[in-house]
Amino acid sequence: MLVDYHIHSYFSHDSESLLPDIITACHKKSITSFIVTDHYEISVREIWKEWVFDIDVYKKQMDKYFLPVGIELGWDGVAPINIDLGKFDFILLSHHDLDEPVTQESYLKYLERLNNLIRRIDDFHCLAHLDFPRRYNKNHEPFSRDTHDLIREILKYLVENGKFLELNTRSISIFGEPNPSLEILKIYKELGGEMITLGSDAHYLENIGLGIKQGLEIMMDVGLKYVMIFDGEWRAVKLSSLSWKGGVS
Ligand SMILES: [Zn+2]
Ligand SMILES: [Zn+2]
Repeated sequence: MLVDYHIHSYFSHDSESLLPDIITACHKKSITSFIVTDHYEISVREIWKEWVFDIDVYKKQMDKYFLPVGIELGWDGVAPINIDLGKFDFILLSHHDLDEPVTQESYLKYLERLNNLIRRIDDFHCLAHLDFPRRYNKNHEPFSRDTHDLIREILKYLVENGKFLELNTRSISIFGEPNPSLEILKIYKELGGEMITLGSDAHYLENIGLGIKQGLEIMMDVGLKYVMIFDGEWRAVKLSSLSWKGGVS
């Protein structure tokens, strides 16, 4: 049994995957629990204006295929949120704004905004790819110790408010670590964090499930014991009860 709670379809500006093909790909790869989470960007910046879709049409399509209704809600922390977030089973909150060139200094700015914006939106389930800017740093440098106080504050807020943390496996095949890094996952564990969702962030069918197996192994190494599963309601499932050997790598 494998999971993938971060998959993009043609509703996203940067993906063309069709829902029936996503379903087939998941079945082939033994991914028994998955959620499509398309980009919906709420931002004052012009570049994000096209990254939205009709939520009613989206919901109808998910219902047609008996899929949960997920969304990757990108928010700049500034623009007013004027969609009904109550329509979603899974809201994966993201922040995609970067200060370029992407350096340790821009990591800090990113975290400051993130720390701020998570406190101003109640209706989200999970925080996506916490150290996201690392993907865009020239050498994929990990976040330095100087960022750890802020990271702690963010993780503490998630733990205390029942929000999940995403382990995004997309970067494992790029720089060998998930978003967030092992070091950050250890801080999360230290703070008593237990609610993790796993997602490949696949924009292409062939990337569905990519890195999930490694993600589960990383969780075992760090001592994180549960994966969050949605089957009409949210449950924490023990890693030891999942068997993933032989599944997609
Ligand atoms: Zn994202
Ligand atoms: Zn994504």
